[in-house]
Amino acid sequence: MRLFEAIIDANHRAVGGDTTAGLHPADFENELPVIALTCIDPRLNAYFPNALALPAEEFIWLRNAGNIITGPLSSTMRSLALACAVKGGKEIAIIGHTDCQICKTTAMQLLDKLKTQGVERHLLPDNINEFFGLFGSERQNVIEAAGIARNSPLIGPKIPVHGLLLDIETGKLDWVVNGYETWQKALSPGDAARASGPIAGALGSLGAFNIGEMKFPETKIGEFATKAEDWLSKEAGKLETGTAETMRNVEPAAESVQKIAGQVAEFAEKHWPRPPVSARAPTKPPKIPLPPPIRPKIIQSRDKR
Ligand SMILES: [Zn+2]
Repeated sequence: MRLFEAIIDANHRAVGGDTTAGLHPADFENELPVIALTCIDPRLNAYFPNALALPAEEFIWLRNAGNIITGPLSSTMRSLALACAVKGGKEIAIIGHTDCQICKTTAMQLLDKLKTQGVERHLLPDNINEFFGLFGSERQNVIEAAGIARNSPLIGPKIPVHGLLLDIETGKLDWVVNGYETWQKALSPGDAARASGPIAGALGSLGAFNIGEMKFPETKIGEFATKAEDWLSKEAGKLETGTAETMRNVEPAAESVQKIAGQVAEFAEKHWPRPPVSARAPTKPPKIPLPPPIRPKIIQSRDKR
């Protein structure tokens, strides 16, 4: 059983009342730590990483309103990429949740709420839905986010990207996207090229890109990220004007994207210091039993976000 299959199995058994259900993190050393993107809803605080039966040090937690990924080169993707390259994350899970208030909020309601806070409509972007990433289905939102992350040129082909949905009432986790299946597909070069599409084409058209030439060996990570983001944004911009041309080169492009991702990872490995091995969770608990299903203590509608 792969890591997330074991996590979901243990979770279902625990939710079903099996007090012995749990996970042996030592069995999954090569698949840890995991990176999870979840919503900002405070009701989730009680569930993570408990619902996954993982020790806290193996859980890299990213949060944004609605666990939304707006694009393959967005700020959230930047964090996911660095969580893999710098913090050693091995698998990514986009975890949505039921009763998400971001999902329930319409553009009109949001504008009203912003107005009461003194936010002027004319200073906001024209397309409110697109800018705030508002969505109508928690499940569909997870499918889209997992798809964008899977096909982002920032994520190496060896990292599985899963999509899960957490029941906010019971703590039960369910598959939405089995990342091991899409991961196998992505490893086939033809599929990867088709999946990566125009972005891969745009990046591929750069030819032999050498990250070492960017001259930032002494740059701090934040500065590097900004430079890399600028560079990527610029390349994504080129794409919009040259889609037809780049699409002709899609096949070799995927290889280049993988090469660039490899170079980024290699560069990070060489130039960014890692904590000594002894500082990284030296003792792994033999068994982390799941707590019994956690029910939120009080949920009052006015406290929902
Ligand atoms: Zn939410």
